[in-house]
Amino acid sequence: MAVGSVEEPVEIFKARSDKREYRRIVLQNCLEVLLISDPETDKCAASMDVPVGYYSDPKGLEGLAHFLEHMLFYASEKYPVENSYSKYITQHGGSTNAFTSSENTNFHFDINADCFEEALDRFAQFFVKPLMSPDATTREIKAVDSENQNNLLSDGHRVYQLQKHLSAKDHPYHKFGTGSWDTLEVQPKARGLNTREELLKFYEENYSANLMHLVVYAKDCLDKAQTLVQSIFQEVPNTNRSYSPVTDQPCKSEHLQILVRAVPIKQGHRLMIVWPIIPGVIYYKEGPSIYLSHLIGHEGEGSLFYILKKLGWATSLSAGESSGGHHFSFFEVYIHLTDAGHDHFEDVVALLFKYIDLLRQAGACKWIFDELSAMSETDFHYQDKNSAIDYVVDVASNMQFYPPIDWLVGSSLPSRFSPDIIEAVLNELTPQNVRIFWVSTKFDGHTDSMEPWYGTTYSVEKITSSTIEQWMEKTPDGNLHLPVPNMFVPTDLSFKTVSNKMNFPVLLRKSPYSRLWYKPDTLFSMPKGYIIIDFSCPQSGSSPESIVLTSIFIRLLMDYLNEYAYYAEIAGLGYWISSHYNGFQVTVSGYNHKMRVLLEKVIDKITNFKVEPDRFFVIKELFTKQYQNFKFQQPYEQALYYCSLILREHAWSWKDELEVLPNLEVDDLVKFYPLLLSRMFLECYIAGNIDSKEAVSMIQHIEDAFYKGAQPLSRALFVSEHPSSRIIRLEESTNYFYAAEGLNTSDENSALVHYIQTHPDEYIKNVKRQLFVLIAKQPAFDQLRSVEQLGYITSLSRTSDAGVCGMQLIVQSSVKDPRYIELRFQAFLKMLESQLHDMSDDEFKRKVNALIDIKLEKFKNLSEETNYFWWEISGGTLRFDRIENEVAALKLITKTDLIDFFNEYVNVGAPKRKSLSLQVFGSSHSSEFKAEKVDPVEPNVVQIEDIFSFRRSRPLYPSFRGDISRLKAHDAEHQWD
Ligand SMILES: [Zn+2]
Repeated sequence: MAVGSVEEPVEIFKARSDKREYRRIVLQNCLEVLLISDPETDKCAASMDVPVGYYSDPKGLEGLAHFLEHMLFYASEKYPVENSYSKYITQHGGSTNAFTSSENTNFHFDINADCFEEALDRFAQFFVKPLMSPDATTREIKAVDSENQNNLLSDGHRVYQLQKHLSAKDHPYHKFGTGSWDTLEVQPKARGLNTREELLKFYEENYSANLMHLVVYAKDCLDKAQTLVQSIFQEVPNTNRSYSPVTDQPCKSEHLQILVRAVPIKQGHRLMIVWPIIPGVIYYKEGPSIYLSHLIGHEGEGSLFYILKKLGWATSLSAGESSGGHHFSFFEVYIHLTDAGHDHFEDVVALLFKYIDLLRQAGACKWIFDELSAMSETDFHYQDKNSAIDYVVDVASNMQFYPPIDWLVGSSLPSRFSPDIIEAVLNELTPQNVRIFWVSTKFDGHTDSMEPWYGTTYSVEKITSSTIEQWMEKTPDGNLHLPVPNMFVPTDLSFKTVSNKMNFPVLLRKSPYSRLWYKPDTLFSMPKGYIIIDFSCPQSGSSPESIVLTSIFIRLLMDYLNEYAYYAEIAGLGYWISSHYNGFQVTVSGYNHKMRVLLEKVIDKITNFKVEPDRFFVIKELFTKQYQNFKFQQPYEQALYYCSLILREHAWSWKDELEVLPNLEVDDLVKFYPLLLSRMFLECYIAGNIDSKEAVSMIQHIEDAFYKGAQPLSRALFVSEHPSSRIIRLEESTNYFYAAEGLNTSDENSALVHYIQTHPDEYIKNVKRQLFVLIAKQPAFDQLRSVEQLGYITSLSRTSDAGVCGMQLIVQSSVKDPRYIELRFQAFLKMLESQLHDMSDDEFKRKVNALIDIKLEKFKNLSEETNYFWWEISGGTLRFDRIENEVAALKLITKTDLIDFFNEYVNVGAPKRKSLSLQVFGSSHSSEFKAEKVDPVEPNVVQIEDIFSFRRSRPLYPSFRGDISRLKAHDAEHQWD
């Protein structure tokens, strides 16, 4: 037995495709640890899960557990410099985060493998001896408050809190978990409490090694990882606390059989039907909730959603268990209603109960369970590798609920068919137990109560089971029935070995109609494929009408395909169609076995498209609401929208698109559809476990469908018609700004996006910019968010638009206006200038190496690889060997190069600085907005008054998609046989 572990080794069940090794150890301080060894990983990670959350907040100190989560990471006795931990992590290619939920708090990070030891030690010290310094207290209460400010206008948060509000007042489920300035500062002070003392007390009472679960993801072997973990985490104090989960039920009889009408922020009508149920963790092998959500949430013919959709009442439906806790849980059905569905509320509820009755009559079906169990098993054994950080968080959260053998599996593998257990949960989904939340802007002005934390207005009405039974009697059942066996379940999971080890995509086939890029799987050995077909249609972006019609066309296609493709989706084969300014894009990904069947069905729906008037109107209504809801976007999202509208050559304003929408009729789409497809070009990418002949034959099939026959749907594009996407070039040493009031007048938050345009894609400048952002992003966050407390959302990141590189600062603030934030950013850059000069050569070298490590990180799964190469193809840069070239450029870079770049392109007053500030003023800064309008502007500052005339007046950068003649097709027969 290994030193330090006090128990026998246990088996941990893992996927067949999983080459990693696992070991459970328990340290002498009783900390339970799962070690993971992955010699192939580039990043290492760790997650500590502490079984205490906001359910444990003391009365009158709402948000204390969350506030502790914020405070814990400030500093430790061993590393007393504030924020030195997050600085270390981000500057070595990592990230760090934490979250607080009802019954647990999770802390986690990842980092380049060679820096893991030190990072892990820094991480551990927060649990060994944290320094929750008094001067950080006020700042972090403000950070929590700012986080809460950002949530106040989110319907998701509002409705969730309302659900909790309408439960037993003395039950922890009733609590408000985020906290605010009021709950953590004002109220405690008024009662003579010191929040920091309460915080320390809370920490002492709840953080103890014997309760915690740690997952460590290492590159080293298990023995080495074990020695490291033992030496570091042994010191976490164990005060032998016991964990007492909440056991009683939050919903008493008075909280059941209720109908709650509530008013949301956003347009639309939603219905949430909720029942308290036996928690799934108790019967995770029998999977009763998984079985029931599979059927109630099904979208195939005969399903509840299929019928609601056919009646024109719903646009989406989902069903499943939402986690409540260890001892109570809820089953929820969530339906987006159309206007007609809202009017037929009683019928919708009745149909749901009729479907549940049908399930009860049918009893638990063995074949359905077996099919579900087989699909889950395939998914588990062929799961894509995801990032180490996500993986450790998932596993650490499982450790609290499941025995070690199932830590990796959790509830994802239902394997034991138990009709009794399924029926026991099914019998809880009754009118006697139900809670119905009906959310619609139509209730505005017709409610009588207000939820205290978010201010959601609502009213409650009792709804007896006999009322629901009456609704059921008068509603026709619409031929509800169970699904049929799923023909998309893959049965051929064999892997096609490729003789030719190719690292980059090749142009496999080229014709006047299409180009096919091909990249077989040489890395993952998974029975999966990825297909992208991008349709370039010059007609799609030619006017606001045409872009909206293209979007309606796409949405209708998916609407028609839904009941068929849903079967594929649940069998791990998904598809997606999206529209853009130059046309639209079809993506199919998942198990390759039946992929071609699905792709050909999608193509068939496109070539045989007919407008169904009733569906047209449903989609038009949906789009109208989506456009109307644009104004409820977060202020920083509005600023990003203005940025893209100013920069992009082709882009219509959302207001223009909303304006044309009401006038669009069935006939407009009937006429537009043939025009849209009349001339087009297909850019195609096929990757994964698909051989080259198959890939060519799929594209041949698509070409035949569109371009062949007596009266073909489509013709090739003229050379002159090939679309480009370009952005405008800003003027050097000029700071443009565009100021606007926030679109939602009840949103107090303001936002600034400060965009700096640097250069068109080119290796040497690219790496200078990347290195600069890597070095600057953490200090920017520290200074602007932590020290100056400007706003919870603060980030500095790289940008790339149509091959033109840049960077952007985003700050959203409820305390300061965008103009002030802009000045603070300038002050920050000045401060950074001296930091760059002071940086030692050693430190500089470390940063360069960190960036090299980030660049050399391997793709973890097919979709990561596909996104990477597709980005090169769709942008037209086609630099598949970019990584090698940028790494070579990085090896030559000097500190002087970096400082020169900063002084030329980024620093305040830099000669080649091209910047654009987007300033969105929230309601708390409307006087500053008005004041700014009359302010005389500085010499090199130019205000953009009218976005479109400004855009027209500027020159464009060249497009990387311009030169298509340099592309030559490889000879498919020769190279791939
Ligand atoms: Zn937080």
